[in-house]
Amino acid sequence: MPVEPMVVAAQSRLLPYAALFGLTLALTLGGILARPIESLSLFWPVNAVLAGVLLRFPRQATPTGFALVWLAMVAADLACGSTWAPALWFNLCNLGVVVTVWKLLSRLPRVHRRMRTPFGVLAVFTACAAGAAVAASLACVMAAPWFEQSLRATWLAWFSEQFSTSVLVLPVLLTAPSTRAVLRSSTQAIRFAPLLVLIASLAFSIFFGGPGAIAFPIAALLWCAWTYSPFLVSLLTLTAGSTLIVAVAQNLMHFIVPQSETGVATLMSARLGIAMLVLGPLVVACVSQANRSLLARLAHQATIDHLTGVLTRSAFTRRANALLDSRQQHTQELPLTLMMLDIDHFKAINDRHGHAVGDQVLRQFARTLQDQLHDGELLARLGGEEFVVLLPGLAPERATFTAERLRRAVQDLHVVQSDARLQITVSIGLDGCAAGVPAPSLDELLARADQALYRAKAHGRNRVEQAEPQRQLRVT
Ligand code: GH3
Ligand code: MG
Ligand code: MG
Repeated sequence: MPVEPMVVAAQSRLLPYAALFGLTLALTLGGILARPIESLSLFWPVNAVLAGVLLRFPRQATPTGFALVWLAMVAADLACGSTWAPALWFNLCNLGVVVTVWKLLSRLPRVHRRMRTPFGVLAVFTACAAGAAVAASLACVMAAPWFEQSLRATWLAWFSEQFSTSVLVLPVLLTAPSTRAVLRSSTQAIRFAPLLVLIASLAFSIFFGGPGAIAFPIAALLWCAWTYSPFLVSLLTLTAGSTLIVAVAQNLMHFIVPQSETGVATLMSARLGIAMLVLGPLVVACVSQANRSLLARLAHQATIDHLTGVLTRSAFTRRANALLDSRQQHTQELPLTLMMLDIDHFKAINDRHGHAVGDQVLRQFARTLQDQLHDGELLARLGGEEFVVLLPGLAPERATFTAERLRRAVQDLHVVQSDARLQITVSIGLDGCAAGVPAPSLDELLARADQALYRAKAHGRNRVEQAEPQRQLRVT
């Protein structure tokens, strides 16, 4: 291998590891520097953030990657004045959380890992509990000399801290949309009511106080959960959960006994309770997101023909009837035309070249028609090789020119296959009504255009026929 590509390859392997080291260093330093601020000292989100990052970008989740994470944590601790022994041991506890959570979740299918199923939400909670238990146990085994409290209290303190922080932070990283999804998504107006009610119920929790008050925001969180995306809900559960934890710790809710062992135990119990509180809204968020995408898929399938990409018969019927109704209710001034189109001798194409080629012909036929039509003109596949076009604003006499244009465009279409160039033709029957005349019903229009199509077939195919004029001229 020439020298330059080798250097580039080595650089591209090293850079992500350097980024992981830098990220860990920055997060740990940030965490340590925030500790003197009392309310922030209640959180150590570094482990959950790193587990989330490695689950989203798993290439660096290797023994080398994990070793670098540990080294960066130790380096940050040492830089902030810690001594070697606690820096090594405590950060081994932190690494325990990252490795356990990663190990348990990385093998799950993506749909669960990204919390798109209730099972995925439960799996994330379980992994957070396991990670917190590992860290707490390591802390008891290895770091006992540095703690003044009992082993039980040490274990509970580590467990409740790591578990509550992880279940609040990790869902944000796992549900965060990718850059591609953000670019693809259309901007939608956000509903503020659930958010405002959440803020009000959090304020009421703190104002009212007492142990039961930590459950007050649950109704608002559930409302948010079926209204917003799982990512937004994760952000809200993080915000609501941390607000409550801070409020309890600061004794704003009047139910801990500060500076006593019972006080600390109550705080831990409250933290665990708050952490469990967010489970329900996260499950509801993922279920309602799944429902929303299912409904969107069903609506798409009911509207768009899967083979040709034009409207389905039922979507066409709905839109055409709406158009006829509004014409009836309003001015009746606009003329309109409906065309039925049927590919000639299509069965022979299937028989000679196979069904797949027939499908290809149908797709290109539909695209050719669509290219010839303007905005507001409806094209639908009624079934098989039969299509329908509705032209609002065009009387049948003028629409015959449009029909001729369509017929010629189809005749000029060459479907190129590996062994042949296929040519097809289409027969068209049309009917409609002139301006100022009440339109017939959609069924009548379809039936009369179909009769005209029958005549086009009978008169030799590859031609346009208009329905008999007498009914169109009838004025009521
Ligand atoms: P005509 O000129 O009288 O319309 O003759 P035709 O052969 O086009 O009409 P016919 O109704 O006898 O045949 C229609 C064929 O369309 C029969 C059916 O196998 C085929 N067909 C229906 N749906 C599809 C489809 O989705 N894909 C393919 N490849 N063929 C289809
Ligand atoms: Mg046909
Ligand atoms: Mg047919």
